[in-house]
Amino acid sequence: MNSLRHNGIGMTSQRTRTRMIERLREQGIRDELVLAAMNAVPRHMFVEEAISHLAYDDKSLPIGYAQTISQPYIVAKMIEIMRNGKQLNRILEVGTGCGYQAAVLAQVAREVYSVERILPLHERAVLTLKELQVHNVKSSYADGGLGLPEKAPFDGIIMAAAATHIPQALLDQLAVGGRMVLPLGAQEQTLHMIERDEQGYRESKLEAVKFVPLLMGRA
Ligand code: SAH
Repeated sequence: MNSLRHNGIGMTSQRTRTRMIERLREQGIRDELVLAAMNAVPRHMFVEEAISHLAYDDKSLPIGYAQTISQPYIVAKMIEIMRNGKQLNRILEVGTGCGYQAAVLAQVAREVYSVERILPLHERAVLTLKELQVHNVKSSYADGGLGLPEKAPFDGIIMAAAATHIPQALLDQLAVGGRMVLPLGAQEQTLHMIERDEQGYRESKLEAVKFVPLLMGRA
């Protein structure tokens, strides 16, 4: 777990963050560890200053390079489902983006591996996470569709970009007892959960979502 130091963050952001947590409860997020993690991470530090006043609204926000940071509800929901009330040791996030979700994940898991295919986004996320003293996120500049075989298996996997099918490499790298949460589809997307047990994989559909597409290769 990680303890965050909030450099230069005033009361205003703490107050708006508290309101965000109340809203997440109203939206049905129940996992107290996830709510505490969402409360601990200063979301406004991950977006451009010009839009930082929108950081605690329940909106997706632009992070450059035609990418977006998901709305707080979706971030919390995906982590709640992946965690399933368990202690998580090692997890994988595909699509670091600005690093916000990785910072939240860092509060609920011992080690977070996060992969991003757009170099400037990867570099900026590394800087932001360092500035916030989040030490348990290991970021890589790589095609996350391949996973990170050398670090597998993962107790949980979150994909922050929508694929048309589940990448086989990620299924292989999910630990027995673990859960993967990912958006699937092109125009119409649905959040899916894959659970792995000794017998194999079980898939369930959760809710309609809107994510940027998972793309192949590095950019
Ligand atoms: N979790 C992020 C959300 C970023 S949006 C955050 O908190 O900001 C999704 C990200 O997935 C984008 O940055 C996009 O570049 C990245 N992405 C898309 N396809 C990818 C791939 N194959 N490998 C790694 N990252 C990918």
